[in-house]
Amino acid sequence: MNPTHIEHIGIAVTSLEESIPFFETLLGTKCYAIEEVADQKVKTAFLRCGQTKIELLEPTSEESTIAKFIANNNGRGGMHHIAFAVENIEGHLEEAKELGIRLIDQAPRGGAEGLSIAFLHPKSTFGVLTELCENKNK
Ligand code: ZN
Repeated sequence: MNPTHIEHIGIAVTSLEESIPFFETLLGTKCYAIEEVADQKVKTAFLRCGQTKIELLEPTSEESTIAKFIANNNGRGGMHHIAFAVENIEGHLEEAKELGIRLIDQAPRGGAEGLSIAFLHPKSTFGVLTELCENKNK
């Protein structure tokens, strides 16, 4: 595998409204996008930190995996996943499969910001939920 950089770090929050001002202060920049990803039952907010982004994730339903993650973290949320930017995400998934890495997504799907994304299972990644993403629109 050959990621080019850390695309973003995903942080689960109970409320975008309450958490955005803190991250704006921390990073010295304004949140530049809020987007609902109906598919994943989350609302996301993005802030830049150099080449990397911070993705805040607020669940829109009790059914959301983010809601379950928050419930399992004392109702407080916290760092949820790390996302690596790759070229040829399909090739990376093939390689991961050949390496015996368990995949959550067998094929890429649509994520926030129009990226193609796929998750690797934390059981295969030392407990760190890992996302691969490719910007196919650039
Ligand atoms: Zn993500």
